[in-house]
Amino acid sequence: MAMAKKDVKTILDLSLSELQNLIKGNGGKPFVAKQVFDWVYKKKVINFDDMTNLSKDLREKLKTIIPIVPFVNVEVLPSSDKLATKYIFELEGHQFIEAVVLVEKKYKTLCISSQSGCPVDCKFCLTGYAGFKKQLSLGEILGQLLYVMNDGHAITHLVYMGMGEPLLNVETVYASIQRITSEEGFYISRRNITVSTSGYLQGIQYLIDQEIAINLAFSVGNPNPDKREKIMSIEKRNPINEVSRLLSQYLKQHNRKLTLEYTLLKGENDGDDELEELANLAKYLNAKVNLINLNPHPKIPFEPVSKDVIKKFKERLTRKGVRATIRFTKGQDIVAACGQLGESLIKK
Ligand code: SF4
Repeated sequence: MAMAKKDVKTILDLSLSELQNLIKGNGGKPFVAKQVFDWVYKKKVINFDDMTNLSKDLREKLKTIIPIVPFVNVEVLPSSDKLATKYIFELEGHQFIEAVVLVEKKYKTLCISSQSGCPVDCKFCLTGYAGFKKQLSLGEILGQLLYVMNDGHAITHLVYMGMGEPLLNVETVYASIQRITSEEGFYISRRNITVSTSGYLQGIQYLIDQEIAINLAFSVGNPNPDKREKIMSIEKRNPINEVSRLLSQYLKQHNRKLTLEYTLLKGENDGDDELEELANLAKYLNAKVNLINLNPHPKIPFEPVSKDVIKKFKERLTRKGVRATIRFTKGQDIVAACGQLGESLIKK
């Protein structure tokens, strides 16, 4: 694997024309850039030696000036049930990112990170506990996808639900979505991509202003503002009522799917009042509710609810006319389940 040097961009950070200029400046013909793009985005190659239609001289030269992916080391951890595989990517300067491949019946989803760590500090999330380390660059986001595809996973769906609040890195996240969906890029359907947010108003406003159409998931935590603030400090400056109003505006503009992600915390947000308010919010936004039972961890001060409670919670939402599903946990044994990413930041 090509090693990343500090402050050096990777091939993934470059547009086709930027790569043309780089290759031209190093004695290659500009059309070679298209060949490199094809090797990377179509054949999922992460090593210049595999680009057999490039001259050996050019391959050797490119190796010395720019890496393909920005990782200095990668750890791969498959879960015992083989339904999840966690990748821990090490960046230059002992920084870490985690991503998880989730195997569904008919497709594979990559849960991708947009930041290393997260500044939002949701009290039920290990990434929040780990704290913020850095914003990810375009190459660091795309590199996660390229690496797992090179490793044999035919990814068809992506969720920006790994480490970080994607809307706090919205410009780079959007640039990554453009490359992932473009014909010269990975060419994955935009309909198969979901960006999850804890409700960052400025980021949602950016999506509205730039007319960016994308499926969104909103992590509710608790629909009651006072109770929400206790577990999600983002509520202070981004009140849920304003977030809901802005999301409604966004949905009118784009007619995209919205999911309300609801992590159940025993005795905290599983009561009748929360259920009622959550149902009202879902109806107002015409959103589906995705119920997730907490993945317990010694650093997280909450407990999950019982299987019976989550089942009944779902049934009661359905009776109120709300579409609700339960997301079953995968990858708990490798600490790759929802809200569990960040072990690498705590341990290393
Ligand atoms: S749930 Fe998302 S926004 Fe909240 S701390 Fe975790 S990664 Fe950050």
